Amino acid sequence: MNLAGKISKVLYGGDYNPEQWPREVWQEDMRLLRLAGIDIVTLNVFSWAALQPSENEYDFSTLDAIIETVSAVEGMKICLATGTATHPAWMARKYPEVLRVNIEGNKRKFGARQNSCPNSPVYRKYSALLARKLAERYGKLENLAAWHISNEYCSACYCENCEKAFRKWLMQKYKTIEALNAAWNTSFWGHTYYDWDDIVAPSFLSEEWPPGRTSCQIQSIDYRRFNSDSLLDCYLAEAGVLKEITPHVPVTTNMMATYWELDYRKWGKHMDFIAWDNYPAMDAPYTRTAMNHALMRGCGGGKPFALMEQTPSVTNWRPYNSLKRPGIMRLWSYQALAHGSDTVMFFQMRRSRGCCEKFHGAIIDHCGHENTRVFRETAALGAELKKLGDVFLDSRLESKAAVLFDWDNWWATHLSAGPTSDMNYPEEVFRFYNALARRNVSTDMVGVDTPLDSYKLLFAPVLYMVKPGFADKIKTFVRGGGVFVTGYFSGMADQNDLVTTEGYPGELRSLCGLWVEETDALLPGNYNNFVIKEGPLAGTWKADLLCDIIRPEGAETIARYESDFYAGTPALCRNNYGGGAVWYFGARPDAVLLDRFAALICGECNIEPVFPPHDGIEATRRIKDGREFVFVLNHNTVESQITIPFACRDLLTDKSFSPSERYALPAADVLVLDVT
Ligand SMILES: [Zn+2]
Repeated sequence: MNLAGKISKVLYGGDYNPEQWPREVWQEDMRLLRLAGIDIVTLNVFSWAALQPSENEYDFSTLDAIIETVSAVEGMKICLATGTATHPAWMARKYPEVLRVNIEGNKRKFGARQNSCPNSPVYRKYSALLARKLAERYGKLENLAAWHISNEYCSACYCENCEKAFRKWLMQKYKTIEALNAAWNTSFWGHTYYDWDDIVAPSFLSEEWPPGRTSCQIQSIDYRRFNSDSLLDCYLAEAGVLKEITPHVPVTTNMMATYWELDYRKWGKHMDFIAWDNYPAMDAPYTRTAMNHALMRGCGGGKPFALMEQTPSVTNWRPYNSLKRPGIMRLWSYQALAHGSDTVMFFQMRRSRGCCEKFHGAIIDHCGHENTRVFRETAALGAELKKLGDVFLDSRLESKAAVLFDWDNWWATHLSAGPTSDMNYPEEVFRFYNALARRNVSTDMVGVDTPLDSYKLLFAPVLYMVKPGFADKIKTFVRGGGVFVTGYFSGMADQNDLVTTEGYPGELRSLCGLWVEETDALLPGNYNNFVIKEGPLAGTWKADLLCDIIRPEGAETIARYESDFYAGTPALCRNNYGGGAVWYFGARPDAVLLDRFAALICGECNIEPVFPPHDGIEATRRIKDGREFVFVLNHNTVESQITIPFACRDLLTDKSFSPSERYALPAADVLVLDVT
């Protein structure tokens, strides 16, 4: 399904909240949005209070007027939100059950947003009813491009409704209390449950304590699985109604990349297109943003992909909210397109006057006119996107390399008591993704359910939890010639967080050709070294965080530890397995070793970079009907000399390049190269 049915160019726009402004401002907004080349607005994100002022009263007059105003602009599409991210105050007063209980065990009062208990029958009923009324009223609008359900689903609830629903979720999963006791290892600390009703939510009143520790890991992991499912059920309740009434309109919600509480790989299955909100810190490596794009895109398994929000200039929630420097908004917009997005969308069109988003950037600033740097940059990008037209829309990235990201592994490693509290799963995964991305190797982020047939190389750092069937899937992948890279804190536990009794790394032991006898956690700032005597990785390279003490069982030792009582023992191993190979990093490698390793391993796998690697130069390739578009982005703050390896034409400037032509790419500038 194409993103909006029949889009003819990259959709350009974002959140528009005119209900915060008097109506005389709206017409001026339309003039300004037209001037900026905006062709889609997301409406109604926080309008439940206005649409349903009391339990039995609905009032669509303001939304009617807003839709009429924006629809009068030629070509303006609407992404219509269902408005259910904040329940109305009357609902909290009349039905306190809709209010969440936080992890501290405190019943919340009305306020903030995403404040509704996901298992409240009242919330489920009225949110689905509002979606129905919106679909019935606006479903036939010709310019309705998509439904945007709720907004940035987040956090968790620990109320009694959720506790009851958790018990039902557990009953479905484990069938008998005996099976649950076995899976949860409840003979530990006398936790045996006699009855389902004995089970409570693992909050700070029961199993957990700050900062995110728990005495029963699997209970806490199961609660996160349950909470993610509960919020997904809220989404599905609305999506079901919308699909029933407007089956032709795509449905989505906005995700937030490496967001702790939600297993987006499950969510992506239920979205017609993947949408996400990209707010990188000003000092975030561009490859970290690239990983987020790939992670989100990967949750769709090939579905269309949309950048739903970014700021035109500045955020409001960080301790220090620096401005996006001139050219950065454009650069990061093209980065989204480079990673498969068919939209460039912002939060928001006009800057709020009051409350916590009053200093969040917008296309129209508080001064209210177009004579600002941000507006000029926005309008310039709008004109460029118009010129690009539909040339690469609906194209896809194709990758031979993949990196595994699994929310269960994040939850399990973060909640684990030992071996180190410095384990940060997304950052560990990023280290490995970074090494591939810096080489401009097209890389997908995959889950354990992703088919591996199309890949030659799979990185699965910190594969702590090995789910049923996954070890066999990797074995099949490697036997068929694939190369698998894993290492420290892997193969430790099953899906119930029960540790292997087969010797670490458990189910991966024969595949890796080694046994990990012990694991040493290094103190902050301390490190050991990988010592590699010969070959392309030769040198001494920093090893920190965790050091596995490895006993090879067929694997070849590539590196040895330099120091401590395990000096001279294997630190990096390689094992031939079937037609492929497995690499095992016993400790966390530094970036230089990983860079060299990525070069070596991509060479062995015959994986060519999309574009010659160059510091700070990112390149990706989108492919449609055999036609290739290579995006080249200069993330450096200075001009960079690059060599264009193929004949091509830049779609932005119409400049043609011949093979091996040198080009000075200005700082923060972009090429969109039509290669065919
Ligand atoms: Zn609840």
